[in-house]
Amino acid sequence: MGNYFQPEIECASREQIKAWQDERLVKQVKHVYEHVEMYRQRMDEKGIRPDDIRGIEDLHKLPFTTKDDLRDQYPYGLLAMPLSDCVRIQSTSGTTGRRVVAFYTQHDIDLWDECCARAIVAAGGTKEDVVHVCYGYGLFTGGPGLNGGSHKVGSLTLPMSSGNTDRQIQFMTDLGSTILCCTPSYAAYLAESIIERGLRDKIQLKAGIFGAEAWTEEMRHDIEEKLGIKAYDIYGLTEISGPGVSFECEAQTGMHVNEDHFIAEVINPKTGEVLPDGEKGELVFTSITKEAFPLLRYRTRDICILSHEKCSCGRTHVKMTKPLGRSDDMLIVKGVNVFPSQIETVLLNKGYPANYQIIVTRVNNSDNLEVQVEMTPEMFSDSLSAIAEKEKELVSALKAMLGIYADVKLVAPKTITRSEGKAVRVIDKRNLYQN
Ligand SMILES: [Zn+2]
Repeated sequence: MGNYFQPEIECASREQIKAWQDERLVKQVKHVYEHVEMYRQRMDEKGIRPDDIRGIEDLHKLPFTTKDDLRDQYPYGLLAMPLSDCVRIQSTSGTTGRRVVAFYTQHDIDLWDECCARAIVAAGGTKEDVVHVCYGYGLFTGGPGLNGGSHKVGSLTLPMSSGNTDRQIQFMTDLGSTILCCTPSYAAYLAESIIERGLRDKIQLKAGIFGAEAWTEEMRHDIEEKLGIKAYDIYGLTEISGPGVSFECEAQTGMHVNEDHFIAEVINPKTGEVLPDGEKGELVFTSITKEAFPLLRYRTRDICILSHEKCSCGRTHVKMTKPLGRSDDMLIVKGVNVFPSQIETVLLNKGYPANYQIIVTRVNNSDNLEVQVEMTPEMFSDSLSAIAEKEKELVSALKAMLGIYADVKLVAPKTITRSEGKAVRVIDKRNLYQN
């Protein structure tokens, strides 16, 4: 049996969870109908009155919300409370188009902090722990979310933010950090840097909570082994609150969704039809307790599977797989669907570090896939012919995984630019050639 932050909620009966969801959904639909014009219009168009929603059986009647809606309604269109009742905004990184800005009341911050506290306690955190947060602080939800969760647990919180690896390692050794919170790619980089500096036996980490980007089981084992910790996954998105929408328990077989705050559905992305447990589809969330920025049936674009199977940890909330791909991350190369995570699996299986870049170009109307991979220092000292042999071996392993040819270039250690936030894995240059 595990440790819980709120056992009466985390281990509640399914009947109790459904009762909470029924009551809160009914209330939430009335709240958005009254305060958000977009939802009122859409419900009116479909002929749905707030009174028609009597419980989660009626959830499927409600309209979806998409990322485009959030952009169209920027900045205040989806705000459901007076601005004077809001205390914070957070925002997405907004790589393309307009940013998404999410508003929070103090109540919204408190429930978000509680969700992150559940994740920290599930990873073994207590008030005796030193929680080292090197997610970015500021508009990005990573830093503020885990920071707030750590305060709720009562742990000593190190608000490190991202970057300055030397300072990270110094605080980690001097202050005895025990739980590390950051992106998995930065955890892998920190592990590498700690080993390089010969400080592996000076760190006291026991667990890590890693999220905000896709990572594989192989990468988990790699980080766990290098840092001597247990690595936990955490999931979330700014639109729904931030990290902590779901989190992993010690079973490490999926992430428990905090169902007292968020209702999860998996749908067929083409038809919108709701799919049963065990079927792969697009993950959709409805926030039933948020006041300022409550979204109905938000389409995450993450491809997942839900499971209500009993978990050995004792928690009763539904589990989701880690995203198996993102509709917008998926590359189509020579007509074949390619996920960066497939390439990463091959590289880590073959003993390469998780430092790689995927470059897609189009030459004479034909797609070209190139994978640049850093060698380990030992490989780098090999003869040129031995390196050429390794490249050939990777080409055939990638062909077996992807079904298409990828050009492989092994590069010297440390040549691929390190990222302190989300790693840039894919450079798709094809659009540049279209005009
Ligand atoms: Zn569990």
